[in-house]
Amino acid sequence: MSPLIEVSDLRKYYPIRKGVLRRQVAQVHAVDGVSFAVNEAETLGLVGESGCGKSTVGRAVLRLIEPTAGAVKLRGRDITQLGKSDLRPLRREMQIVFQDPFSSLNPRIRVGDIVGEPLKVHGIGDRRQREEKVAQLFARVGLRAAQMRNYPHQFSGGQRQRVSIARALALDPSFIVADEPVSALDVSIQAQVINLLMDLQRESRLSYLFISHNLAVVEHIAHRVAVMYLGRIVEYADKATLFTRPLHPYTEALLAAVPMPDPTLKRQKRHVSGDVPSPISPPSGCHFHPRCPYAEARCRVESPVLREVATGHQVACHLR
Ligand code: SF4
Repeated sequence: MSPLIEVSDLRKYYPIRKGVLRRQVAQVHAVDGVSFAVNEAETLGLVGESGCGKSTVGRAVLRLIEPTAGAVKLRGRDITQLGKSDLRPLRREMQIVFQDPFSSLNPRIRVGDIVGEPLKVHGIGDRRQREEKVAQLFARVGLRAAQMRNYPHQFSGGQRQRVSIARALALDPSFIVADEPVSALDVSIQAQVINLLMDLQRESRLSYLFISHNLAVVEHIAHRVAVMYLGRIVEYADKATLFTRPLHPYTEALLAAVPMPDPTLKRQKRHVSGDVPSPISPPSGCHFHPRCPYAEARCRVESPVLREVATGHQVACHLR
């Protein structure tokens, strides 16, 4: 069975222009050859530090921004080659939930209208049918129908994210990009929203690309995990493998920062220091070498290829 979403060698480069003539002097390689698949009813976690390109991947997959190169297939059909009118019906299948529910909801519009807007835009149902559908969506995400008349500021952060999720569900999508959907919420509320996303997945066989900088959150919701560093995937495995036998030094370092639920268990502590380098002039060879505790001479000149080291487990490191 082919995956619901298949991404091959996705690239997104941004030109850097200077001078009066705005001549291109360099390129930011925000996404630099990323490939992955998401199956039906599956969650792929996409993790990495801020600035690694993971949000750009999410937007490029949905064609909210145009990829520079690569293919994105939905049920085997390459959507990167489609014009606007051919893409429009497929957009119903693919939705996004953003990080900050406050800035992504128009403060002057009642939340019932916000959730019903996609139905209106796609010409689905008459006014009464749309209201009924919105009331059902409110119930699905744990809100009361009476709250449809309220404005975004009358909701808590967690409730606002429920509104965003209801809006994403309005067109009965099969695939949702959830871009840091709980990062702006209190820790006590994060679990409720994650559990809601998992319940919705069970009910409707939804597939998620779940983007997060927080491995602890990803561990809870994801089936498989891709770790990104400076525009590239450096490790890709099922959740159990990644969390128990990480092979890439960057994954190891990210995991070292995740608290263990059982204090008698210890993870190998190999923290990395420093910030993510600029994608405008990434380090030569392995992009991770300036921060890698295992780096060798070869790492400074040769870029490691992402290769399969065990079934379903890929890693980009010369030493693994
Ligand atoms: Fe570290 Fe070298 Fe592996 Fe890169 S290739 S992660 S620098 S050991």
